[in-house]
Amino acid sequence: MNRTLADIGAEAAGCTRCRLAEGRTQVVFGVGNPYADVLFIGEAPGFHEDKQGEPFVGAAGQLLTKVLGDVLNLDRGDVYICNILKCRPPGNRDPQEDEIESCTPWLVEQISSIQPRVIVTLGNFATKFVLQTQQGITRMRGKAYPWHGRTVIPTFHPAAILHGGGEKSRQFGELREDFELVRDTLAATDPAPASAPAPEPTPAPVQVPEPAPVRVPDADVAPVPEEQLELF
Ligand code: URA
Repeated sequence: MNRTLADIGAEAAGCTRCRLAEGRTQVVFGVGNPYADVLFIGEAPGFHEDKQGEPFVGAAGQLLTKVLGDVLNLDRGDVYICNILKCRPPGNRDPQEDEIESCTPWLVEQISSIQPRVIVTLGNFATKFVLQTQQGITRMRGKAYPWHGRTVIPTFHPAAILHGGGEKSRQFGELREDFELVRDTLAATDPAPASAPAPEPTPAPVQVPEPAPVRVPDADVAPVPEEQLELF
């Protein structure tokens, strides 16, 4: 049986898989609804996140929270928010290869547990890592990418918006458009649309004779790809 997100988070809290354990105040595992339809993935905790133990609590986080409310009519507790790295790199330097490698199993477990329908990658780093691309965020954003039975929607990192002119910038308008794409993708993949017709009253049970079992030759059974069994 899959572990709960709380179990995974409790184990991650004591993680010493890489050097970032030495300098952190605490592990910043993630926050939000453990059954969220939408998962946001950033890069790594910054100063405030390291102190408070929660991702995206600084100015960039406030921008994220605002657009979430304005466009998706959701608040932070409705979605799940985490980072590729769960510990703050010293001085907010770029994550290093071996740190990412050590930390990835936590992200994989988070995705397996939450089972989000849509994953929003925030900025260049998360987008390149999740979609395994060299293309920058400006080229990647604005589109939805199928990924392991889910949809990945890349958008700008909110901190980049703040550094580049804030809410008056063209990028801010594009960030909002990307959130509209998230909204439309959720509506298009909703397992129980609100407008579904009311179910017919249950008819009286009809006795149907048991069909004879049908034997399916083994060769007709499609193998399940290994990645589906082990990863997501
Ligand atoms: N930037 C990130 O990528 N993650 C955070 O949690 C905060 C800032």
